[in-house]
Amino acid sequence: MSLSIDDFQQKHVSFNIVKKTELPAHCPPKEAQKWNMHPKVFLKFDLKGRAACPYCGTNYKLI
Ligand SMILES: [Zn+2]
Repeated sequence: MSLSIDDFQQKHVSFNIVKKTELPAHCPPKEAQKWNMHPKVFLKFDLKGRAACPYCGTNYKLI
């Protein structure tokens, strides 16, 4: 298997948008608590403004 998680995510890109005014962002977001319960974790964005939740893998993009 040569398909990394990064490859998979790039082919199935679906970001949750986070506005800078909403920082600090966390997962699950307020509106998602019912379908995606796991311990709340604050997101750390990289230089491209992207972050992935270590629990559920949801991608977030900072705008
Ligand atoms: Zn999550």
